[in-house]
Amino acid sequence: MSQPSSCTESYDPRFEALVLFNAELEQLAEGFRWLEGPVWFGDQRCLFFSDIPGNRTLRWSEQHGVSTFLEPSEFANGQTRDRQGRLIQCHHRSRCLTRLEHNGSITTLVSQAHGHRLNAPNDVVVKSDGSIWFSDPLYGLLNDYEGGRQRSEQPPALYRLNPSSGEIEAVATDFDGPNGLAFSPDEQLLYVAESGAPGVPEPRQYIRRFQVNGDGRSLSGGEIFHKISPGWADGFRVDEHGNLWCGAADGVHVIAPDGALIGKVLVPKRVSNLCFGDRYGSRLFMCASTAIYSLFTATRGATWPQ
Ligand code: MG
Repeated sequence: MSQPSSCTESYDPRFEALVLFNAELEQLAEGFRWLEGPVWFGDQRCLFFSDIPGNRTLRWSEQHGVSTFLEPSEFANGQTRDRQGRLIQCHHRSRCLTRLEHNGSITTLVSQAHGHRLNAPNDVVVKSDGSIWFSDPLYGLLNDYEGGRQRSEQPPALYRLNPSSGEIEAVATDFDGPNGLAFSPDEQLLYVAESGAPGVPEPRQYIRRFQVNGDGRSLSGGEIFHKISPGWADGFRVDEHGNLWCGAADGVHVIAPDGALIGKVLVPKRVSNLCFGDRYGSRLFMCASTAIYSLFTATRGATWPQ
């Protein structure tokens, strides 16, 4: 192991090309409850993120610091941006996905599948064809802290939504707790976190890798790609080289496309989710329990520009 900088550990020379020796971990804001859903809006030069138990969506910018953007947020969790630059949010309490339109109105995109209410949509990504892929585990229904106890009407699943037609399809159903998800840079692969069934002695907790079929809308495979330790995978993003940057109990783990752990960003608190942002997409923003951290890197997010 080597230490390329004060807040990183390297286990593979490939990691050293991704980090900067003179970039420090910065704490940008603190005092929240449990943060999730980071997404960068380049045109507004700001980060949006969710304080799930705080029931609000927040906004951070270098110039203005933190402000409340939406409150209540229906216990929003994962967020992303669609191809038209609109904010897409997953909501635990209202059990739906919404889109914030350019005029400020909010459109509910989906709240049901197969005639039953969704559980508690957790995380979301938009493919280059505009389709919206999201996870629907039970977590947000189980307690009052993250949205309020409610009854599940169907098993956990991973879905693809056509936002134009409203067509929704379960693309994978063999999950106990589907969570974060991200495509490889060429969109040939989809990585999905399996965070496991809640409250069982040995939950299935690992990152799975699916092949996106030639139709661009269905999946095959789904093998175990990597197991995060310590902790378990919640949210992650892919960089321009196809490496996964994944939240863990001790910070951010960087997993190469071959599944090897090549390095870590050490963060004082558990990281739930993260995203790349800032002017060049090379700054990592991390939601770490009650605080937001950032680190400038030598790589860029795969989905840049954003
Ligand atoms: Mg999540």
